[in-house]
This record gives sequence, C-alpha cells and structure tokens, in this order.
Amino acid sequence: MSGIPNNFKDLQEEMIQWRRLFHKHPEPAWCEFGTATFVAQSLKKWGFTIYMGQDLICDKRMNLPTQATLDKFYAQALERHDLNKELLEQTKGGYTAVAGVLDNGEGPVKVFRVDMDALAINESQDNEHLPFKKKFASAHDGFMHACGHDAHTAIGLGLAKYLSQHKGSLQGKIIILFQPAEEGLGGMAAVVKHPIFEKVDEAYGFHVWANKEPNEFICGTHGQLASKKFDVEIKGKASHAALAPEKGINAMLPAAEIILSLEKLKADFPSHIRLNIGQMQAGTARNIICPDALLKIETRAGDTITRDKLFNASIQLIEEITKKHACSCNINLVGEAESASSSNDLAKSIQGLVTDTGLFTRCTERELHNTYSEDFCTLMNHVQNSGGKAAFMGIGASNKSGTHHQTDFDIDEEVMVKMVSILAGLSMSK
Ligand SMILES: [Zn+2]
Ligand SMILES: [Zn+2]
Repeated sequence: MSGIPNNFKDLQEEMIQWRRLFHKHPEPAWCEFGTATFVAQSLKKWGFTIYMGQDLICDKRMNLPTQATLDKFYAQALERHDLNKELLEQTKGGYTAVAGVLDNGEGPVKVFRVDMDALAINESQDNEHLPFKKKFASAHDGFMHACGHDAHTAIGLGLAKYLSQHKGSLQGKIIILFQPAEEGLGGMAAVVKHPIFEKVDEAYGFHVWANKEPNEFICGTHGQLASKKFDVEIKGKASHAALAPEKGINAMLPAAEIILSLEKLKADFPSHIRLNIGQMQAGTARNIICPDALLKIETRAGDTITRDKLFNASIQLIEEITKKHACSCNINLVGEAESASSSNDLAKSIQGLVTDTGLFTRCTERELHNTYSEDFCTLMNHVQNSGGKAAFMGIGASNKSGTHHQTDFDIDEEVMVKMVSILAGLSMSK
C-alpha cells in the first residue's frame, strides 16, 4: 500500500485481526459484551484510565433488548477464553459502553467516538463474500456486522495503541469513546451527560462508507436526519369471536386506522420528512377478538423542530384514534437522534491535515448527508452547545461488494490504518 507512513504500517496487520475477530462475533445494541470487554482489557493494557459499565452509563438506555437476548449474548461472551471475566462482569445486564482516557496534562480535551454494535441480518454464505471465504463470517446466527462498526472498533483500538506509544507528543486529554447501540439511536443519550464529556474542546466521529471509493475523504457533514423511534402498544379486550364478540374490544381496528391516518398525515409536512410504520403485530387466534396490537414507528426530519412537530402530531392522532375505539395505549420512545452540523472551521482544519497526508485524491470539506440518522449528532450538539467544536467525517471503503445493511456488506480493510493516521494527526494537532 502506498503513502501510509511507516510508523502506522506495523499496526495494520493487528487491526485487520481485531476487525475480523469483531466481525466473527457480531453483537447487537446493548449486547456488545465481548466487544466491550476486549476493548476495555486492551485499553487497560496500554495505560488508559477506563470508564465502563454502570460507571459510564448515566441515563436511560432506550430500546433495551429482552432479558433472553441479553442473557444469550452474555453467555456467548462468557464462553470465550480471550476475555477478562472481571471486566466482562461489569457489562452484565447491557452496560456495554467503554471510554478510555489518556491524560497528558494541560491542553485541549478531545473525544473520538467509535460504535460497536452489529445488526440482525443473516450474513451471506457465498464464496464471493470475503468474510465467508476467509472464515471470519458471523458465528452468531442471524446477526452480522453489516455497517462497518467492527472496523470502527478496530480503528478506535488502533488509535488507542498508537497514542499510548506516542504519549510524549500529546498535549491535554484524549478520550476514546466506544459507544453501544448506535443502530436504532439510543446509545449516545445514555452516556452523553457523564462528567467526562462536560468540557470537551473537540469531538470527532466518523463512518466507513462502502459506497464510496477508498481514495475519498469527507471532513465534515451536515443535515443528518433528526429522528424519533417509538413503539405503540394498544390494549383492547379478548373475547369469544362468535359467542360474545360484544364483550371484546378489537385492538386491531385502531391499529389499522392509525396506519392509514399516519400515511395521510405526511401530506401536512415538507416532502423531506420520513414517517414509517415498519412493523405491526396483533392478535392471538382466528376465533378470538384481538386484545393487543403493537406498532413500531419511526419519524425523521431534516431539523429537530420539524421532527418534534411530526412526532407530536403523530402521537396526538394515535391517542385520539385509540380513545375513539375504547382502547388504551402506551407509547414508548425507543430511539432518538438530533440533526447536527459539523463545525465549519474544524472541517476546514481537518481538510488541511488530510490534504497534507496525500493519502486521498478526493477530499470534501463538508457534505450534505440527509438520507440517514447518526447517534453521534447528540454528542456533536452537546459539545457545540458548551462552546466546543465537533465534526463527523467519512472515509471511502468500497471493495466492490454489498453496501450497508446488506448480507454481503464488506469493506476494504486497508482504509482502517489510513483512518488511524488521520485521527492520530488530529489528536496531536494544536
Ligand atoms: Zn448502519
Ligand atoms: Zn453505521
């Protein structure tokens, strides 16, 4: 590979091994037991001060999986021989956030955020799919790292190891945050109010993009969609469908009316908004009046105010309809993200640094990213609102296979060490 400074080349093989280890053991939101423990024990070995488990998670964890799912993934981590059992114990129950702090006295506080969670997707078993061919495909049936968060975790570790070896060149405090539950948007809100994030001068997040070429770097973004994700539980009453239908209350009727009414509600909002009812579960049997219905809904908009208007209008409609049908309803917020913009001057200085490395032939200062939501936006706003700067970067990682959230998703692993060299440069810049 051309252009990578010699002092980063040593890291490359190790980072590929880490990424493949995480890829083989994908863990969904709040179940990142093995990944978080591996991260914590590595950071500890390299002299970082560790915050993890209940010491780091200081707010409600949205969209926590069922106890059975938590137990299943915890048991899988317990079986592994490469994990420190005392550190693993601290993650029990879904407390899977880890932050490593390297304090070198006077100077700025800089946070680097990586995410660790995988997705509920079955990985491709096609021989053309490199992780399958090279035998590091998912060992957890039904789950897969299909967004590149395995690479993000490896990049975070690569940065940590590099900085621990070059501590003398650092000024100030470096915090590397390994966050859980980025997919579904809930992990950042659970840690952002921790005192270590109170006075941050610079915060950096990034994503590998399989739909962009590896020569491409994005120094900042704006326009990520603000989102609220919520579950609606509608309660009716069961009864014999022929003997006493009048004694039942059919929860499916308000559910159906809600679906149709929310579709119509979209017309009252700008065309960029997104409102999707992605899942409905209802009923128990053909001959029973349906007593329960569950709707899984998400709302998104280009700004936080429009998101809230859309969310509030949806909730009002849902409550009116369920009341009309004599049902009760419970609405649970399960994920939330804000919209955010990378700080202009920070994106500009990143562009200067990236251009100087000569590692990328295309380097965009700021790019509109309005087709997804990103949990890092919560930290970006938090840091910017308290006087700091923040940027969300992107690195092209295409290896011509599937794109994000697809069964044959994969990346060019060489981009990981390139990203570490950029992050190390940002860590050490004055
Ligand atoms: Zn994703
Ligand atoms: Zn992602």
